[in-house]
Amino acid sequence: MRKNIVAGNWKMNTTLPEGLALAKDLDAALKGKTVNCDVVIGTPFTHLATVAAAIDTAKIGVAAENCADQEKGAYTGEVSAAMVASTGAKYVILGHSERRAYYHETAEILKTKVNLALANGLTPIFCIGEVLEEREAGKHFEVVEEQIKKSLFDLSVADFGKLVLAYEPVWAIGTGKTASSDQAQEIHAYIRKVIAGKYGQEVADNCSILYGGSCNASNAKELFSKPDVDGGLIGGASLGVDKFLPIIEAF
Ligand code: PEP
Repeated sequence: MRKNIVAGNWKMNTTLPEGLALAKDLDAALKGKTVNCDVVIGTPFTHLATVAAAIDTAKIGVAAENCADQEKGAYTGEVSAAMVASTGAKYVILGHSERRAYYHETAEILKTKVNLALANGLTPIFCIGEVLEEREAGKHFEVVEEQIKKSLFDLSVADFGKLVLAYEPVWAIGTGKTASSDQAQEIHAYIRKVIAGKYGQEVADNCSILYGGSCNASNAKELFSKPDVDGGLIGGASLGVDKFLPIIEAF
């Protein structure tokens, strides 16, 4: 069956010493504790190797927040999936709405990134979600369906089975405005149905679908209680152990 996962996305926050201290604090807080979900932290590229070497990666998976859409070569400033994998990171967040909006990452580019991530043994945490106008126009179902189809539906059954999805309504990211647990459940169930239509019910049932968007210690339990919400992708509240740990413990 699918895993419950709580994954942090630090975004462009923390210097290396600050990030290392945060990762070590989380590692210490989880030591000797039994938790009922997998825990992942998404850190800036500069932190990956240092963080991965400093924590128990059997307990906390490390994620990059992006990777290049090229394998290697003359792409100044880019970081390849192979480079990410060589740091000890096991995951990569792809398709985050900030990357789609600010760095013009198209469905086609994301498809390439997903393929490269998988080819290098990384687990993509693939983000989808609608903007406010799309939600208000009742188009959220078709928006997420298109995002999934265009970037992921050329994958083999085996490769699709390696993905984690994160439904993140853009209007809820960093806004303090959360989707209600019923809204989350409704669209997560729809996403699972779309997956089942292409890859079959077993693959759909085994796919972890995380919710992201102002998830915090106060709303995590309610969101995670829904049958198709398999955890969270957490931005702001992943930047302090005092805020992140209660979300992990919501399972
Ligand atoms: C995110 O950026 O993935 C996110 C969910 O952010 P926040 O939790 O801050 O809304």
